[in-house]
Parts: sequence; structure tokens; C-alpha cells
Amino acid sequence: MIRTLYARSKQGYRTMPFPPGNDTLPERFLGMPFIADGISGEDIRECVSVCPTGAIDAPGGNISLDLGKCIFCGACDKACAGKAVTFTREYRLASRKRDGLVLSNEPAREEKDPGKNIKHIFGRSLKLRQVSAGGCNACEADINVLNTPGFDLARFGIQFVASPRHADGLVVTGPVTNNMRSALEKTYNAMASPKLVIAVGACAISGGPYIDSAEANNGVDTVLPVDLYIPGCPPHPLTILHGLTSIMERLK
Ligand code: SF4
Repeated sequence: MIRTLYARSKQGYRTMPFPPGNDTLPERFLGMPFIADGISGEDIRECVSVCPTGAIDAPGGNISLDLGKCIFCGACDKACAGKAVTFTREYRLASRKRDGLVLSNEPAREEKDPGKNIKHIFGRSLKLRQVSAGGCNACEADINVLNTPGFDLARFGIQFVASPRHADGLVVTGPVTNNMRSALEKTYNAMASPKLVIAVGACAISGGPYIDSAEANNGVDTVLPVDLYIPGCPPHPLTILHGLTSIMERLK
């Protein structure tokens, strides 16, 4: 016991700053995509044809990329040799509106609707109930890691609770399989109003790889009203942390 305490005291303070430093994200991290201007038809076709989830479309020759469907596999970047789509290291991807996730080579649309005044409603804390609605557990793993000393979610006043009766918000992962739909709706109905719904990951936003499956719905907003979309497959813990803190209007 004494040795454990001694070893712990030697470890010092390990909670990372947030927002994080520039060198926090790993080399292979793929963040916010950048879509180039003036792309040739051939490069567009290459990008669109390799996308496994139909996240890229090119109506009228202009590429649009739906972060809500993207699984960040990087295949489009490789296929067009970085001429049409490249991935930056920007981890802040969350949006309060579904169409805010659809990117083009036009300047980013400013979200004019501030949404609910979350800080006013919930004060300085946010209690969340998590439901895995048929996911593969990758998103759940990256949510769980927020509770470690490294990310220390509780320092922002955000905590996961066991009962929906105690929750202000519902964090949903997975495409909402038919088996889980009733459990999800019951959890939502058990929460007191006002309440938030947060969709985490490509499956929860659009169905992801399971899109149009007969056994699943195409994401949470086909079942419940969604207040925040956090894209990724899975989203990096910092992407989730940014989304959660931004909805509280605690950090800009
Ligand atoms: S990174 Fe996203 S947009 Fe590009 S091919 Fe993969 S899923 Fe499609």
C-alpha cells in the first residue's frame, strides 16, 4: 500500500490541458477534411467511387462531404493523391445542426441558431446517461476514456449517471438497431424535461456502415430529436469533449 501511494505521488499531475496543445493528437489522426477548389472531374470520380459509406457526393461537379456519414478511413485522400480532399488535424467537428456537418469548398456556414441556452437551463453542470444503441463499442470506449485522470471530464461539471431520472442529456452511440429502439425511447421518456440528445459517431448520426440496414435505423434523429452531433468513427475523445463542453457554452 505504501509503495502504491509512493509510486502514485511520483507520477505527479497527469490531466491534460483543454483545449489541448498542438502536439497532443497522434500523427495518424484525421480531423476536419479540406476540400480543394477547381478539382478535375477525374479526381472527383476517384474520390466518390472509393468512399465506402457514400459520404462524398459531387452534384454538378462540386464535391460535398458529409461528416455525419464519414468514417475517416482516408480512402478518398489516397485515391485522389490529396488533390481533392485532405484531412487536417482539426479535432473540433461537432455541430448542433445536421446540415452543419455537410462540407463543400464554399466557406464554412456560420451556425446562426445558438440552440437552447444550455448554460441558462443547466447552470454549471451536465449529467448524462449513455445508451449504446447497437454500436460496436468503439465510440463507447472513447467516451469511457473521458473519465480517466488524463481527460478528467468531471472538471467541466460533466458526469455520466446511472439513471435517466438523474440525467439532463442522453448520449447515444450506434445506429439504433431495431432491438434497441424501444429501450432508447423508454430511457428518453424517463428523463425529465428539458433534456438534450447527443448523437456520437457516424452510426448514431446517419447509420454509418449500417446505413439502410433492415435491422437498424439510420441514426438517432430518425427516432428522437437530436441537439448535438459529434462525428467520427469513433470520434477522438477530444472531439467528444469539445462537443460536450461547447454545448454547455463553457468553452469557445
Ligand atoms: S474518409 Fe470519409 S469521405 Fe473519405 S472515403 Fe473514407 S468515409 Fe468516405
